[in-house]
Amino acid sequence: MSEQPFRFTLEARDGAARAGRFSTLHGDFRTPAFMPVGTHGAIKALTPDQVRSTGAEIVLANTYHLALRPGEGLVAKLGGLHPFMRWDGPILTDSGGFQVFSLPNKTIDDRGARFKNEVDGSEVDLTPERSIQIQNALGADIIMAFDECTPYPADERLAATGVRRTLQWTSRCIAAHARPREQALFGIVQGSTYLHLRERCAAALVGMDLPGYAVGGVSVGEGHEELCRITAYTAPLLPEHKPRYLMGVGLPEDLIAAIGFGMDMFDCVIPTRYARSASVFTRRGRIRLTNRRYRRDAFPIDSSCDCGACAGGFSRAYLHHLFNANEILSAILASLHNVRFYERLVTEARGAILEGRFESWRAEFLAGYAASGTKPDDAAAEEG
Ligand SMILES: [Zn+2]
Repeated sequence: MSEQPFRFTLEARDGAARAGRFSTLHGDFRTPAFMPVGTHGAIKALTPDQVRSTGAEIVLANTYHLALRPGEGLVAKLGGLHPFMRWDGPILTDSGGFQVFSLPNKTIDDRGARFKNEVDGSEVDLTPERSIQIQNALGADIIMAFDECTPYPADERLAATGVRRTLQWTSRCIAAHARPREQALFGIVQGSTYLHLRERCAAALVGMDLPGYAVGGVSVGEGHEELCRITAYTAPLLPEHKPRYLMGVGLPEDLIAAIGFGMDMFDCVIPTRYARSASVFTRRGRIRLTNRRYRRDAFPIDSSCDCGACAGGFSRAYLHHLFNANEILSAILASLHNVRFYERLVTEARGAILEGRFESWRAEFLAGYAASGTKPDDAAAEEG
């Protein structure tokens, strides 16, 4: 028995694809796993019960947003993030590194990052130590090392600086981590599109013997092919018996490819963000419910879906009407469906891996999914 409460059990391998289980103090989640994103401590438009009904076993919350508002001190005072957001299963918090990277005006040096607080305009200082202090207070089961996310495209010098800082910062995070027996600290592999930098970063992080590893600096505009090239190269550099998390990815075809390369965990705002702009996933591709063709459509979003919207009998025509009338229920039903679509995707992939038929499952899924594909009228939804 490990002395740590968290433990990754590899249950099956099929090619490079894996099925596993990660145990935390707040229960287990099975992998491949998709984590719906709860930026402010809430999955947009869904109650925790509704999130649970999609099959999600772990959710993500953002350190950066929660530190600015309501502040980690208040969350800690109210018992931590689990009771605060009424989610008693596993939670992962990011480090804030990616959010800082997304800000227009920030200063980053070896010490950390400085930027303006978008809530009250004050100056914020986010260092590896501060990120861990916030995450210790929030109390998620998995916390992330503070990293420097290199923009895309980046020249090699900039990417190398990102790797150097990420490694130094990870060491500082390990030193600052006050709750290592309750919270698993994952390291993040950076290196942009430079495979030798990815290799250097992965090797150094593996030497730190962390309970899990992530591939970061992807989903920053590099596209599906580059994402596949980076992930295919980096995944096998990570320890076999620890979970591997691909950050911020992605569309269904990205997830399926990454599972095939041996990644285990995923998070993305796509299912909930697209849902709010009427873009929903079906087994035959994505459709836009505001399109006039659904005005009299009596069918559910996807007849094969068992989510609360589809199995609940809500028609495309009704959803079309709700979106046009700007009813809040449109966001609820579409989010319920899209998150369930992603959870079914990883659950089916897991089932196929356990039965040794991942390749045939993937071929069948993608053939059906590409049958109609993304229609031109969906393009606007991606901007949402
Ligand atoms: Zn559905």
